[in-house]
Amino acid sequence: PKHIAFIGLGAMGFPMAKRLCQAGFHLDIVLHRHRQPVEELVGMGATLVDSVATACRNADVIISILPSDKEMAEVLLNADVRGSVRPGTILLEMTSGTPNMMAKVEDVYVDLGCHVLDAPVSGGTIGAANGSLTVMAGGNQEIIDKLSSIFDVLAKQVFTVGQVGDGKAIKAINQMLAGVHMVAASEAIRLAQHLHIDMERLKDVVAASSGASWMFLNKIDTVLARNFEPGFKLDLMKKDIRIALDEGKQIPLPITGLVHELYQLMSSQNGDEDFSVISTLAP
Ligand code: NDP
Repeated sequence: PKHIAFIGLGAMGFPMAKRLCQAGFHLDIVLHRHRQPVEELVGMGATLVDSVATACRNADVIISILPSDKEMAEVLLNADVRGSVRPGTILLEMTSGTPNMMAKVEDVYVDLGCHVLDAPVSGGTIGAANGSLTVMAGGNQEIIDKLSSIFDVLAKQVFTVGQVGDGKAIKAINQMLAGVHMVAASEAIRLAQHLHIDMERLKDVVAASSGASWMFLNKIDTVLARNFEPGFKLDLMKKDIRIALDEGKQIPLPITGLVHELYQLMSSQNGDEDFSVISTLAP
């Protein structure tokens, strides 16, 4: 595949799109609100087109990485877009959305003769910029293999996780852990400050001990420096934990529920800051 419609040029999509341009793929992109990523990508050879429908008309592959279900529906289920995609096109859907929305999108695109992969990612904006994302791909292995040249540019690991929808589910499970671990790390850091512990020493010890988490080891410096530029917005974390809670309605997930409430408490004031701003919450 050479021609990509790339939809969603945010904290993740923009650096991913840059890598694909640099690797020689031709990208068609659209302007939503922010001009700067569009201008930079056009400078790298991408084509700015007037609508998602136009972008999709020419595409071998459509890549979407949008905030949530709502935008997935607005963009991918739009009547003009549906009218313009060609049979045989591959939709690589990378949003952290719900399995239900993914199933709706799959139904529509399979009816149009397209192939659909459900492929959310982990690894953050740094992983997006240096091509070391983890991809959790639900869908047909043959189609995953067809996109290997794209995954080579974006990802360090591509896991085949099952059917379309399973990618979204596994991403939500990862996010419930990540969201809980961030809150746990915040409390540990707060106690360490209260006890006047040497933070570098603490980091070394925890890294070699049973309390270690990716969040503790990688977010401690951000928390201490109180630098909450996103990164990954608190509102997106809140959305992901909500997905996990909704998928698990019939089973007890008390810690996840409590942690969701904490993110909810900060959402109105701090929703657009990095989710690690949760470390400043003093309920
Ligand atoms: P951002 O909010 O930074 O970016 C979202 C992008 O979608 C923006 O470029 C926005 O354009 C665009 N957009 C929104 N609506 C439309 C539309 N109707 N048509 C075209 N473009 C649209 O989010 P992130 O990049 O951080 O996250 C994207 C997804 O990836 C989310 O599901 C998130 O949970 C997930 N994710 C995020 C990670 C992170 O570290 N940030 C890590 C792993 C997964 P504009 O800005 O112009 O409005």
